[in-house]
Amino acid sequence: MSALLEGNMLKKCLAGLAIAAVLVWTASAQDARTVIANASKAMGVDTLKTVQFSATGWDFALGQAPNPSSPWPKFIEKSYTRAINFEAPASKVDRVRMQGENPPRGGGQQPVVGEQTQTQTIIVNAGTPWAQQLEIWMTPHGFLRAAAMKNATSETKTIGGKKYNVVTFMGDNRAKVNGYINDQNMVERVETWIDNAFLGDMLFEAVYSNYKDAGGAQFPMHIVQKQGGYPIFDLNVTDVKANAAVNIQAPQGRGGAPGAAAAPANPPAVSEKLGDGVYLITGGYAVIAVDFKDFIALIECGQNEPRALSVIAETRRLIPNKPIKYLINTHSHIDHSSGLRAFVAEGATILTHQVNKAYLEKTLAVPHTVNPDKAQTAGKKPMVESMGEKKVLTDGTHTIELYHLQNFGHHDGMIVAYLPKEKVLLEADGYNPQAANATAPSPPSLYTLSLVDNIERLKLDVQRIVPVHYPADNRVVTMTELKRWVGRTTSTQ
Ligand SMILES: [Zn+2]
Repeated sequence: MSALLEGNMLKKCLAGLAIAAVLVWTASAQDARTVIANASKAMGVDTLKTVQFSATGWDFALGQAPNPSSPWPKFIEKSYTRAINFEAPASKVDRVRMQGENPPRGGGQQPVVGEQTQTQTIIVNAGTPWAQQLEIWMTPHGFLRAAAMKNATSETKTIGGKKYNVVTFMGDNRAKVNGYINDQNMVERVETWIDNAFLGDMLFEAVYSNYKDAGGAQFPMHIVQKQGGYPIFDLNVTDVKANAAVNIQAPQGRGGAPGAAAAPANPPAVSEKLGDGVYLITGGYAVIAVDFKDFIALIECGQNEPRALSVIAETRRLIPNKPIKYLINTHSHIDHSSGLRAFVAEGATILTHQVNKAYLEKTLAVPHTVNPDKAQTAGKKPMVESMGEKKVLTDGTHTIELYHLQNFGHHDGMIVAYLPKEKVLLEADGYNPQAANATAPSPPSLYTLSLVDNIERLKLDVQRIVPVHYPADNRVVTMTELKRWVGRTTSTQ
């Protein structure tokens, strides 16, 4: 067969496909209108202009698991009250959180001492990020309202033996939003994908069950939200007020447009020489750069891509014309890993504890199509190398000793970096310094105690601590300060 003939046939086939696709789309659009109308009627969408519900349950800290194979760590939602105005549209949450993991396990600023009050207000306007608006559009009633406005399509799917009408529209971030409507015309599940600097095109799901009548509308009494495969909220609804007089005001000092509030700027990277060829880079999460004979090794990556790019630029200024060979990752928590992909794009090898290796390999390869980053454009395969209890990087002049922390509840795969010549220890989340005159917690944090125990076990001669969460006043943190924080001022060493 000649190439020309083949080309003509291909064109014919494509034309046929295009017509078929249009026909399917038209049929789906009609179906979708009917499906949305039926579900809206059954659920009382038109009558439910506002809702206020109260619940108790759990929230979970995304990306802060104590181990890459565990779910996100949980916190108690002692009370949770959410008001939504579907027509404004606006939403407000008032909640009281308490420590959920005892003893503390994982990140998310544990332990929460006593009761922690939090409020979040979302008033949708032209500048409100889509991910924030989803708090409204992913509710069952919000989903049906959005689907009716957004040229949705519909198809039937059987999942686990149950038949669903799946209604789909395109979100403002160009990712699909799918709603699963059951044979009772109730929305059982809404899913979409949002950008996460570390987790990539991240699945965001909301599962609704145990529907009850609330003033003529149907409302789910059990709500589970999941992000990145694990729950971030698990709420048992105790009270629903349909069409309550909700009054959602913008918080003060935000110019009445919280969604449009500018993201915090990326402050310039500032560096300090810790020793010959050893630099501390601050301005965000602290990073140490070491100038080895043939390459550069960096410890920690910055908390996001802009920060990582600033760190890379500052490193190039300090140490020109050498490749960044190693990026040492202290642990796989989201805030310590969201800058890693910038280093993958640089061609650096990520060095981490073996607990994190498979997880980082998998996660760093997740596509970032919703909000493409540098690594998505560069298309490089992530290279991850692992270590066990100890690893030493040296060229005879410069040395980095890496140690795995034992019995460290914050993360099972945590490593610290010790520079024997400079007597400097970089640590993440073992000790996050407060103001210089702050009162030490009583009892001391188990994470800080474990850090001190590990330093003693390893017999490290530490003079200066470099906390990745660097103190706001930029002070030099000493071993004496660390010991004071755990009440060991009189201890030897
Ligand atoms: Zn952490």
